[in-house]
Amino acid sequence: MKMKMERPSLTISTTIAVVAISAACIWRTIKRSRSPVIQCKLSCNCGKVQGYIAAKREDSIRIWCFCQDCQDYGAFVASQDKHAKNIVGEYGESRVVQVCKSDLYIIQGQDLLQLSRKSATPTKNQLYMHRYYTKCCHTPLFQTVDFLGFVGVFLENLDQAVIDQFDGPVAMMPEQARKLPPNMPPDIFVPHFLWKLIRYHPSRNLGPFDYDMNPTFWGDKKKTTLNTL
Ligand SMILES: [Zn+2]
Ligand SMILES: [Zn+2]
Repeated sequence: MKMKMERPSLTISTTIAVVAISAACIWRTIKRSRSPVIQCKLSCNCGKVQGYIAAKREDSIRIWCFCQDCQDYGAFVASQDKHAKNIVGEYGESRVVQVCKSDLYIIQGQDLLQLSRKSATPTKNQLYMHRYYTKCCHTPLFQTVDFLGFVGVFLENLDQAVIDQFDGPVAMMPEQARKLPPNMPPDIFVPHFLWKLIRYHPSRNLGPFDYDMNPTFWGDKKKTTLNTL
């Protein structure tokens, strides 16, 4: 008798879950199909590297990442050139917009991009992040993971008149902020973020990324912090 009581309730809860997830996916798909395409120019500080983003708003998300890795990377790139500006803000934030790899185009100066990694081999639990800055003026431009479909492009070097059109902002790893900003964005909403990761995935092998060039290494090998963005 007990088994007969449990089976219908399990079936009902499973059915409700499947219907809810399906409805959410349909709603997301419709919302994305109606989403405007945002065109936004990209340039390094000296202007030799030029490009642009062309991304549906629904495929974008602005992230303020406060993680120590992003802070260390920003300091490393700035230390390479006395004229370079540190991309990291006073609160320890690196501001990026995440889009599909296929939404980023470099139209000039591709040969001036320099690959940088934390270390020669990834440590345990570390996403192997490929970060790119320019050789001409040491401007950090974007970063990605080779097997995932997104790229994070620094807002600093995008057309400032357009960046507010992207989705967000949200905060990532706010606990690692140097101090709390007065207008801290809300924490990243994980289901929303996962949906976008799935959306990005078909473009994982696309985009203007050379993973094989000789990298520079920005990290202290003794550190084992989780590398996020
Ligand atoms: Zn430059
Ligand atoms: Zn980060």
